[in-house]
Amino acid sequence: MPKLAVLGGKPIRTKPWPKWPVAGPQEERNVKEVLESDRWFYGPKVHELEEAYAKFQDATFGISCVNGTMAIEIALVAAGVGAGDEVITTPYTFMATVSSILRANAVPVFADIIEETGNLDPDDVESKITPQTKAIMPVHVAGLPVEIDRFEEMGRKHNVTIVYDAAHGWGSRWKGQGVGAFGAYNTYSFQASKNMTAGEGGMILANDEDLAETARSYSNCGRSSKGAWYEHFLLGANFRLSEVHAAILLAQLERLEAQTLKRMESAAWLNGRLSKFEGITTTPDDPRVERRSWHLYTLRYDAATWKGLSRGALLKALQKEGILASGGWPMIYRMPLFATYRQEGPKACPVSCPYHKGEMPDYSSLHLPAAERLSGQTGIWMPQQTLLADQADLQDIVDAFEKVRENLDDLLAAQPEKAAK
Ligand SMILES: *Cc1c(COP(=O)(O)O)cnc(C)c1O
Repeated sequence: MPKLAVLGGKPIRTKPWPKWPVAGPQEERNVKEVLESDRWFYGPKVHELEEAYAKFQDATFGISCVNGTMAIEIALVAAGVGAGDEVITTPYTFMATVSSILRANAVPVFADIIEETGNLDPDDVESKITPQTKAIMPVHVAGLPVEIDRFEEMGRKHNVTIVYDAAHGWGSRWKGQGVGAFGAYNTYSFQASKNMTAGEGGMILANDEDLAETARSYSNCGRSSKGAWYEHFLLGANFRLSEVHAAILLAQLERLEAQTLKRMESAAWLNGRLSKFEGITTTPDDPRVERRSWHLYTLRYDAATWKGLSRGALLKALQKEGILASGGWPMIYRMPLFATYRQEGPKACPVSCPYHKGEMPDYSSLHLPAAERLSGQTGIWMPQQTLLADQADLQDIVDAFEKVRENLDDLLAAQPEKAAK
């Protein structure tokens, strides 16, 4: 029985995983075209990208912007979210989802998730709707669409706006439609770790012309399509994407289809093998999810069936074997900023931010059990580029789990402090 790398043995894998991001002749040709043109900003490439991306996600309008964080903030403000409003969202997300709500002067209200999927639980969301609820912002975590039908129905029934943080949703489809077909707005990220990227970049999709126009105006210095260039109607700012970024993204969009199919194939292959391990659970199949972008390959771990080996100890052992495994997002409502802003007031704050001393919502006694379990104990992630590897490489992942399982007693004996409480 070979010794675990974490105990001084030879790792299963020293070869690197597929490089990310990737570019080729198409990106180079597109960028060169921009550089040789006299139009480096908000021109034909941006226009082409917005149209192509909206079409790709079955939305009517595309509004590009600098990044996924600003895409969310623009969407919220353009949807009319402001001071005193509540926005119900998930605590199992990247900080941008929540900081955008705060920066729109609204109050994030956290609902719990469904541990099996990592996505927001519609029942818990509905129970938290109040007269102050202006919007609900679900996140398609790791590209897995949320229960879209439920949220759309909830929006109509309670007259609240649904804004989807689709930062991981490039290409994800729900019951025959791209996820961009739903909600008031969908927001996407093209940051460097994401499945299509220009280093930075973002997109807002909308299906209503007025909503699209408002988001466009806010993202472009408050201009109007009907006004003059130096005529400003809204208190917006410059959040525009450059032509160079759009040129790269157009090439990335062309790559995405083949890459997504490859990720789906790899995820299905891994699911088949890793689900054979006791205590390792893959995402349940859902026939309504026609396509998942697989921004992250996600698993759940039950330490009790691994003799109490903590997730942290398992992850460390896998990492030492050469596997890119992590535990994912820490719990968002425990981020230092919430307590700090309550106690000391902010060191830096947008001009209109109301969250000064004592005014930050108090989440210190909030407990959402499913989100806390997935975040703190059971969730395992591998980054999307892992899924671009060949099957022989994916086998290393299976072998690494097998190796840890076989060496469980040695590992527990060597790291008794790492075992679960
Ligand atoms: C990446 C990400 C964002 C923010 O996107 P940026 O382009 O990095 O600003 C927002 N929400 C989620 C869920 C993300 O993963």
